[in-house]
Amino acid sequence: MNSLNDYPADFRKCAEFHGHVCPGLAIGYAAVKAASGALNSSGSEDEELVCIVENNSCSVDAVQVLMGCTFGKGNLIFRDWGKQVFTFFDRESGKAVRISLNRPSPHRDRIHELRKKMETGQATDKDKSELHRLRDEFTLSLIAEPTNFFEVKEITMEAPEYAQIVETSPCSICGEQTMTSRMVNKDGSMACKGCA
Ligand SMILES: [Zn+2]
Ligand SMILES: [Zn+2]
Repeated sequence: MNSLNDYPADFRKCAEFHGHVCPGLAIGYAAVKAASGALNSSGSEDEELVCIVENNSCSVDAVQVLMGCTFGKGNLIFRDWGKQVFTFFDRESGKAVRISLNRPSPHRDRIHELRKKMETGQATDKDKSELHRLRDEFTLSLIAEPTNFFEVKEITMEAPEYAQIVETSPCSICGEQTMTSRMVNKDGSMACKGCA
């Protein structure tokens, strides 16, 4: 089952956007499926659905494609906490649900071992195909049974702030327009972070 056509259509959409099929992408896909049931929401055309992600890995691409939560719209909030945790907040209903991956691949240790071999150039062809097989297995089981892998918790939280329109002014060094809230004082005048 390695052909893209064997996956559900909405997963294929994620894979097209992301560039490849991987377990990480399937984690994001499954997190969305697990959240949708609890939220009764199937995505955000505008900004009414907000997702707070606690990692910036492959999984987040599925969230962007399926839920319409994107950096550009300001309804994707990134916390650099290194966790496969996704909190969805529906502005319309005020409901929030926290989805956290609590069941890794049953072959996690073996996958780790094989990856190490790949990195150090010691993997045989047999190792490589085993690694592919184990990763595919995990990917497929995430897609088939999303709710099996996550703890789904309804939580109460305050509504995240809307994306704000902020003033910009030219950087005193490069002259490029910069959000004033992101500028820093450099020798008495305001500069962009790139210059400072
Ligand atoms: Zn990936
Ligand atoms: Zn500058």
